[in-house]
Amino acid sequence: MIVDDHDTICLVSEGFASLTGYCSDELDGKSAEMLVPSGLGVGSGEVHLDSARFPVVAGRSLDRSVKFISREGGEIVVALVIEALALDGRSWLVAAVRGDGHEGAAEIRDADVGLEVIESKLAAAVVLAESEERFRHTFEVNMAPMMFTDLEDRIIAVNDAFCQMIGWTRDELLGSDSVPFTYPEDLGISEVTHHRLTSEEVDRARYIKRYLHRDGRVISVEISKSTARDFAGRTLYFVISERDITEESALSAQLSHQALHDTLTGLANRAVFEDRLSQAQARIVRQGGFDAVLLMDLDDFKGVNDTHGHLVGDQLLVAIAYRLELVTRSSDTLCRFGGDEFLYLAEGMSSMAEVDQLAARLLDAFSKPFSIAGVQLEVHASMGVVAWDGAMADYTQVIQNADSAMYEAKRRGKGHHVLFTPNLQQQAVSRFALTQELRHALQAGELSMFYQPIMQLDTNEVVGFEALMRWHHPERGLVPPSVFITLAEQSDLILELGAFALREAVNAASSWKPTGEGRDSSYVTVNFSSRQFHDSDLMSMIGSSLVASGLAPDRLIVEITESVTLLDVAETLSVIEHLHRLGVGVALDDFGTGYSSLSYLALLHPKIIKIDRSFVSPARENFRNDTLLETIVSLGQKLDMTVLAEGIETGEQLKRLCSLGCDLGQGFYFLPAIPAHEVDDLLGREPGSWELKDGIVVGFAGSRSPRIGVL
Ligand code: C2E
Ligand code: MG
Ligand code: MG
Repeated sequence: MIVDDHDTICLVSEGFASLTGYCSDELDGKSAEMLVPSGLGVGSGEVHLDSARFPVVAGRSLDRSVKFISREGGEIVVALVIEALALDGRSWLVAAVRGDGHEGAAEIRDADVGLEVIESKLAAAVVLAESEERFRHTFEVNMAPMMFTDLEDRIIAVNDAFCQMIGWTRDELLGSDSVPFTYPEDLGISEVTHHRLTSEEVDRARYIKRYLHRDGRVISVEISKSTARDFAGRTLYFVISERDITEESALSAQLSHQALHDTLTGLANRAVFEDRLSQAQARIVRQGGFDAVLLMDLDDFKGVNDTHGHLVGDQLLVAIAYRLELVTRSSDTLCRFGGDEFLYLAEGMSSMAEVDQLAARLLDAFSKPFSIAGVQLEVHASMGVVAWDGAMADYTQVIQNADSAMYEAKRRGKGHHVLFTPNLQQQAVSRFALTQELRHALQAGELSMFYQPIMQLDTNEVVGFEALMRWHHPERGLVPPSVFITLAEQSDLILELGAFALREAVNAASSWKPTGEGRDSSYVTVNFSSRQFHDSDLMSMIGSSLVASGLAPDRLIVEITESVTLLDVAETLSVIEHLHRLGVGVALDDFGTGYSSLSYLALLHPKIIKIDRSFVSPARENFRNDTLLETIVSLGQKLDMTVLAEGIETGEQLKRLCSLGCDLGQGFYFLPAIPAHEVDDLLGREPGSWELKDGIVVGFAGSRSPRIGVL
């Protein structure tokens, strides 16, 4: 046993302890008086283990027979050898005992307590004491909240940092477990970890839980808890070190919200959606049944953005998200997939009728106009729907299929939903194939320009031709521009096609002769897609084709749709200004179908406005269309523009337009688009050879092209 100068037992061997009936743990750190009570005389009487009264000076030893008090309280007579040692300025007593009778003390000394042994043990004790001191210091002044808990997880030591963190005093904490200051929902966390540590399943644990500060605040902490063991591996206590991560976790919660949500609408984002899809797939495979994936794409959202600005566009998206959320189940997933696309995953569908109802319910969210910043916006969406039984392993393909169906919904005329069928996938595949073929078509000479006459309605004269592209596909036959132009517009291919159309049309027009004395030669109108119109090469391309063909600039008219003009008003105006300076005219195509506001119309001031054929030859005659037609014609006249009616199919329509004072017209009633060589024939013909009925042109006799109309 080693005793320090305060009579405290610093080290005791198991052998020493067992002699007295204690185990070493019970003696460590205790006063030696519990073994040799004060006043207990040894031999002549004055020898005590109390160093102050112990007449042993350093470097000397003493051996005696003494009486110890055992754990049970009885007396044990032991042979005792005591050495006094000075080490590092402190004095120590090293006591060695032998219990069985009174064997010679010298023998004990030789056997058990050689001086070197004692010294090395002492040195170890000093190191231990110092390191314990250091540890105690570190523990107490540590900035990190720390505590020690016993096997029942009650606090046996706690530092200031911990007390400050939760607002409790040391006295309140000692002896308590963490239950009173743990956030109620997190009580289980400590319990589980404590169990794992005590059952020796793990030796240390790291976990996060929340406390309640005395002032009511919730604090998040990261806890490291480890087991302290003795040499025999028995658990002594637990060392717990903590870190306040309240701010950090608030930030990371915000960041993870941002990472998982669309910042504008707050809906889940693409990453979340894909994750849900993969979970859904696992579930379907396990439990059977089917889900529905619905992809909504706003119709003409771009127009809204361009007309009313991005701020209104953004607010519209938020309003749409809000409306959609109102009609969706919270257990399903609604996400903003990008731009103006929303995706919805509805789990556990029971029938196709249910899917249909769901689609209708979602689209119904668009039935009432949205009121954004004082603007009433009527917005619709087209929807592609996939019924998904998990059989398709690649869930990204599911989204692609929804996209194909959505594309089809747009094609069929917006605001509706289309259920995906393998057939649609086929169409998506063939769209891809067709694009490839279209690239080839240009080189292979399968594309050509046809020309549809533009008539002066009051004089029955041909004044111009609209150049319309045709694709003679070797196997598919004539592919209409509504199919291939849309495809080409999805890539740079449209630039090549556009350049081809312009070159061909300008060349053809340069050879057209006036139809009579004192008449002007016909002009040609060429359609431009928005991509082409905003291509930086546009002006030089137009300039060089005019120069190469020798066509007077005023015989070329560029047709643009409202989607072109709205893309970027300032840029559009500057392009139009350039065209004006060059002498090239601009016609606004399909007027009335887009979003143009009247102020734009005045601003752009196109030479011609082409009234869309839906007003001229509506599928069903109705009063509203008729009024609109009248209004558009008079609007054009008031703004000093030439008004052209597209798609005239009947004599009645023609008469009506004439009565309204519409200047120009084109349509199957006169002629569809005809090949270039037929144009030459036509222009060579005297106006007299044109078929007339009631004084107006009803067709061109001898034309090989089919005539549709009243005939
Ligand atoms: P668009 O510019 O509005 O051309 C008028 C379309 O209406 C043409 O269809 C024409 O054949 C058709 N049409 C003319 N009269 C009548 C009629 O009385 N009744 C009916 N139902 N339709 C009539 P097409 O040639 O199929 O062209 C469709 C669209 O494709 C064009 O609409 C135009 O936007 C685009 N397009 C055609 N050629 C080109 C081109 O070279 N470049 C570009 N960018 N687009 C083109
Ligand atoms: Mg056109
Ligand atoms: Mg048109």
